[in-house]
Amino acid sequence: MRILKLKFRFSNSHTDAFFNECTVKNIFIDLTNRCNLNCIYCFNDNIIHGSTHDLPLDIIKKMLIDSSNLNISNWFLSGGEPILYPYLDDALHLFQKYKIKPKIASNGSLLTSDIVDKLISFGVGSIQFSIDTLNEDKFINLNCGEPQILKNTINNLIYSINTPLRIVVSTTLTKLNLSDIYSMMIYFQDLGVDSYTVYLYTPSTNQPRMSKYAIDFSELPFIVDSLIEHYYQHCDTKIIDTDLFWILHSEIYKKWQSKIDLRVHNCSAGNTFSVKVNGEVSPCICQNSPDFICGNLHNSNLCEILKSQKRKDILSIYTKVPECKNCNYLNDCRAGCRSNAYIFGKSGLISADPHCEFFRLYNGKL
Ligand code: SF4
Ligand code: SF4
Repeated sequence: MRILKLKFRFSNSHTDAFFNECTVKNIFIDLTNRCNLNCIYCFNDNIIHGSTHDLPLDIIKKMLIDSSNLNISNWFLSGGEPILYPYLDDALHLFQKYKIKPKIASNGSLLTSDIVDKLISFGVGSIQFSIDTLNEDKFINLNCGEPQILKNTINNLIYSINTPLRIVVSTTLTKLNLSDIYSMMIYFQDLGVDSYTVYLYTPSTNQPRMSKYAIDFSELPFIVDSLIEHYYQHCDTKIIDTDLFWILHSEIYKKWQSKIDLRVHNCSAGNTFSVKVNGEVSPCICQNSPDFICGNLHNSNLCEILKSQKRKDILSIYTKVPECKNCNYLNDCRAGCRSNAYIFGKSGLISADPHCEFFRLYNGKL
């Protein structure tokens, strides 16, 4: 996933593709906006609450035809809830035909043993379960689901871990589940998942319903430090991947770099594509605002969109952020997260990313 994150690894056998300007390695495809939950932080919120949309199979076929000219390593199928996509079997047949093993990002509640076995038979390589809490009351508040759905999700997770699939879990950090994250990290490690990712919520729209649950920027550096501390104390692997690039500015990095393989990456928009359910393509999984859309697969193919001037403009916009122009880290950091900057700044795509300021302010407060 390409929301701002800390990925705590429980094994050292897997490496993800991170930013490489020349090659697009990851495609996230929103198959449908149908969902059986209604998470308060959903970055597809404005899509989920509109009328029902399913990505036409022809669009998937078109991308797969183009894929022979590209060298895409990771195909992620998400939504909404991808298991509710009415043409899922047909889509998986297509991936099988092109010898591609897609990855599924799901809330996990519908991944019964029968469905998991079917996904394996189609060649699915891994599943990311999105689980935000183990507490039933919080599940009702955070994900708007009945407690039985949470129980089903955990049972499905346990079944999936004992299959050949690579299973990872992710949690979106909010005020409601902050205190749970520490014990969840250990719980998922003990269950045998491959990694646990904590996403720092990056809203795609300033959703009034989410704002009261969002963690204040000023608290994030302390939370990040304490999560790393917890992982260091309790997990043996000691590898963290993160795209919180500003961490390099803070004492958090100095404190942990010799103890943990702390791999800091920049925004993945250069090597990632997000295909929205209406066929629009954005370099950012969190963003479907018109300023981020660089083409539509209904009227262009993938290669054309990849080479488009609009995409080049979006990827180079980081050079125009006034606050970052004189920063020594600019070429590596690429001015942080454009989605965050766009949402919270006053200058659209060339706003400064507010996270950077708060990680700087953290210095001297350890
Ligand atoms: S000032 Fe800009 S380029 Fe430098 S670390 Fe902060 S966000 Fe990145
Ligand atoms: S702009 Fe980049 S760092 Fe920010 S959410 Fe999008 S892909 Fe991630």
